[in-house]
Amino acid sequence: MRCLRCQGFLIAIQMRDMGQPPVTGWRCLLCGAMTDPGIEANRVSQSPPIRSGARLPGAPVRRVKKERSQ
Ligand SMILES: [Zn+2]
Repeated sequence: MRCLRCQGFLIAIQMRDMGQPPVTGWRCLLCGAMTDPGIEANRVSQSPPIRSGARLPGAPVRRVKKERSQ
């Protein structure tokens, strides 16, 4: 499990809301961001996953060869 903001290491914590049973959530050791299953679900349902366009150095560039129909 990695932090959504900084990719830091997350530790499991018990989160308590008033009048609610304790929920297991996550806290980032680096930036301190708190995540609980509800937040995670909202995030997933609202925004599509962001794809990183970064290429690894030295990675081959994928070229698509188009065959000519003529
Ligand atoms: Zn973080």
